[in-house]
Amino acid sequence: MKILTEHIDVPNIETIDVFMKHGGYQAVTKALKNMSPDEVTEEVKKSGLRGRGGAGFPVGMKWSFLAKPEGVPRYLVCNADESEPGTFKDHYLMAKSPHTLIEGMIVSSFALGANTSYIYVRGELMYVIHILEKAIQEAYDKGFLGKNILGSGYDLDLYVQPGGGAYICGEETALLESLEGKRGNPRNKPPFPAVKGLWQCPTVVNNVESISATSWIVNNGGDAYAAIGEGRSTGTKLISVSGHVKKPGVYEIPLGITVEDFIFSEEWCGGIRDGHKLKAVIAGGSSVPILPAELILTTANGEKRRMTYESLSDGGFATGTMLGSGGFIVMDETTCIVHNTLTFASFYHHESCGQCSPCREGTGWMDKVLHRIESGEGRKEDVDLLVDVAKKIEGNTICPLGDAASWPVAAAIRHFRDEFEWHIEHPELATKPGAVYMRPGASWSN
Ligand code: SF4
Repeated sequence: MKILTEHIDVPNIETIDVFMKHGGYQAVTKALKNMSPDEVTEEVKKSGLRGRGGAGFPVGMKWSFLAKPEGVPRYLVCNADESEPGTFKDHYLMAKSPHTLIEGMIVSSFALGANTSYIYVRGELMYVIHILEKAIQEAYDKGFLGKNILGSGYDLDLYVQPGGGAYICGEETALLESLEGKRGNPRNKPPFPAVKGLWQCPTVVNNVESISATSWIVNNGGDAYAAIGEGRSTGTKLISVSGHVKKPGVYEIPLGITVEDFIFSEEWCGGIRDGHKLKAVIAGGSSVPILPAELILTTANGEKRRMTYESLSDGGFATGTMLGSGGFIVMDETTCIVHNTLTFASFYHHESCGQCSPCREGTGWMDKVLHRIESGEGRKEDVDLLVDVAKKIEGNTICPLGDAASWPVAAAIRHFRDEFEWHIEHPELATKPGAVYMRPGASWSN
């Protein structure tokens, strides 16, 4: 079942003529000519679509929070700043099929009553920005953007804004600051963007994948979308897979398949590379807790783990994780968890905006302590020190970057503490840069 990628490999699908030959822009016609904005919102609510950027908050509910004071403009901003290590599905979708997003932007902006909307794209993706700009011009030329779209009386202007390369601008309020031309520092909340967002006006910020799904929902109805998936995890999800599988890439999966099927079946990742075994998985981008093989495949009460928001988080952080952004990083037994944790800790330290002390100082401490463990200078008390620092960051910061930095460290120690201790006990091995470095005999079987 493909919703977003059904036609993604059709030659020239990035052009509006080919996109329209495959059913493109029918949702715009249907919504603007036959539906009211509230009816579109109602279908999105019925669909159960949840935000695909990481938080998983219901999209229709987020839309219904939008304040609508008289005479004040509202905005829809698409968060295309995808910078989470391990996540590259929005990049793929925008580069291959830009009109899927643009059509979703038009339908969603109509539902929200926005007459000006923005796509804020990660600055490094300059070629994607050019693809989007060309596609937007095509949409203007066909009358799907601009004044009085399709004679409906509805006006919409759509702009692409390149980001400046900061991970923190993927946080919605930092993104809005950046869009306003300021340094991308997250804002204190409340007020939430739905009340005071871009230029202090009501604003909805949604992820690329979430917005792109809305045209299918308009065409086929919210109930049809809700019929796909499992429980409260409705619809399909793009998963970007990297690491030690035979077939890394971007997959659109129906939510609800088992993790085992996803990793090992030929239809999806094709299994672990020859001669190796699954050791661990980070299921939802670098900020979600890592799980060892036995816990990513099976929940603590023995059920097969599924690719849903609920199943992946089953057991809380003691034994579970999160679906997050769908950045699925697969590691075999050659992976050094200490080195992997250090890589992420250094990243979050570098990307902290520095506004709040627990994040600014704590990410620096975790980076330093992990670095000394990895370089053979670890102290016996360092593992507990890392846990302590991670705990002091979590929940004590303005934005979720603090949590995102602390969770991977805490989870790596929770599940692989022996590897950290082994590094400290064997500094002579730790000093070999890039060496595969594991306790002898340690490997997780599938
Ligand atoms: Fe900045 Fe970190 Fe505080 Fe977020 S948590 S506002 S990134 S210092």
